[in-house]
Amino acid sequence: MTLTRHPMTDRHRRVLLRPGEWALFAQPRAVVGFVVGLVVVDVLLAVVGLYTTVPRAEEALTAAALVLSGAVCVEAMRRLGMPQGMVRDLLGAWWIPVLLLLPPLYSLITPIPLYVLMQYRIQRAVMFRRVFSAAVVALAGFSASSVFHALVPGPVVLLGGVSGSAEGSALVTGEGIGAAVLCAVLFTLCNTVLIAGAIRLSVPEEPRRTTVWDSESLLLDAVEVCVGLIVAVLCALSLLLLLVVLPPVLLLQRSLLFQQLQTAARTDPKTGLLNAVAWERVAKTELARALRTGCPLAVLIVDIDHFKKVNDTHGHLFGDQVLLGVATTLSHQLRQYDVIGRFGGEEFVVLLPGADMAEACRAAERLRTRVSRMALPVNDTTVTVTVSIGVALLRVHGRDLLELMAAADLALYRAKDSGRDRVCLPVAKSVGATVRSAGDPPADTRGG
Ligand code: GH3
Ligand code: MG
Ligand code: MG
Repeated sequence: MTLTRHPMTDRHRRVLLRPGEWALFAQPRAVVGFVVGLVVVDVLLAVVGLYTTVPRAEEALTAAALVLSGAVCVEAMRRLGMPQGMVRDLLGAWWIPVLLLLPPLYSLITPIPLYVLMQYRIQRAVMFRRVFSAAVVALAGFSASSVFHALVPGPVVLLGGVSGSAEGSALVTGEGIGAAVLCAVLFTLCNTVLIAGAIRLSVPEEPRRTTVWDSESLLLDAVEVCVGLIVAVLCALSLLLLLVVLPPVLLLQRSLLFQQLQTAARTDPKTGLLNAVAWERVAKTELARALRTGCPLAVLIVDIDHFKKVNDTHGHLFGDQVLLGVATTLSHQLRQYDVIGRFGGEEFVVLLPGADMAEACRAAERLRTRVSRMALPVNDTTVTVTVSIGVALLRVHGRDLLELMAAADLALYRAKDSGRDRVCLPVAKSVGATVRSAGDPPADTRGG
């Protein structure tokens, strides 16, 4: 797992971080302490390890072969490209064999060349995040390796392993395999806990947004553990088997990155919502379903009022934080199957499957109220914004997405014309077209 950029931490940045910059001391003090502490612990352990580890040629050769295989994977990632954010790579396939086959010292050292390679060959991430990722892998690997070698004291990498026989390797025994599974899981757990801890320290009020514990992540962790164990056992049999295992690992990593790149292509980077193209695709599918089943459906267009003034007064970076704040507030107010996207600029689109006129207006009113209650801190004061919302109903205002969007846009213009901070329906074809004004919302459309 590599942390190049976390969308929620960006909101709290005091300076704009550029790739390659250190910028550690612009972070909250707890984050600085955490990262520095981690690196210091790693360095101290490495110093102790250098004095206590007896160098063995076959272990150095195994380490070099594993780092080389990892480097091939990094180069393959470079060709495919890497999405922004918390990127799931498959480098655990190499860290796990290192921690199982080699003394703990190697787990502290081997991440260095691969993370340097990543920084300069793939993506110039903000430097302290790259250092943090490497330090986490090193400490997790060292801890798991120490436990493994305490449980399985015999030699793991033998000279025979290099030339083709693993007879006598402590890994390829019943207890060895059991301990290896345990320690590979321990490695993944330590890694995840440390990353989740750093995210939590940098964004204390948004712990639920941390995505390291969701089912998708846990599945990927399990895959990484399995692949790492397979590589370790094959390496214990013969280092030459790395040539056999490298192509499937590369293919697996490729499909993993491809999936993440696809997700990134659907997502608006500033808000984390669907982008306009992806929203339209999902909306069309939902619309076809609603037409087929006869269910109601509504479309909302939400536009921030006088957003240009916010930019002009507080700057575009603050404007971006407002966009993220509004996006987060809107998505927290919606049901799981509602579809929200950033339409462009300061406009959002929401599709409400199953919502009739009353429900759509209630939802829109709730969104309007919640956004108006949002207080965004800037310097020593807080800023609030309001939104205007246009609502359109399937079969009432249109029968396809184009007609619905045109109707919702018309309704939005009505909301703007009649004073902003309100919810409106398009005037034509509808009963009771003006829905809500900010000061005087009728009871039937008030949000909860
Ligand atoms: P109205 O109430 O009529 O909607 O007024 P408005 O100022 O919100 O609308 P207008 O269309 O005049 O201005 C939209 C502004 O949104 C102008 C543009 O600079 C800003 N904007 C668009 N995209 C972004 C963005 O990604 N980040 C920031 N910070 N501003 C953006
Ligand atoms: Mg606009
Ligand atoms: Mg606007």
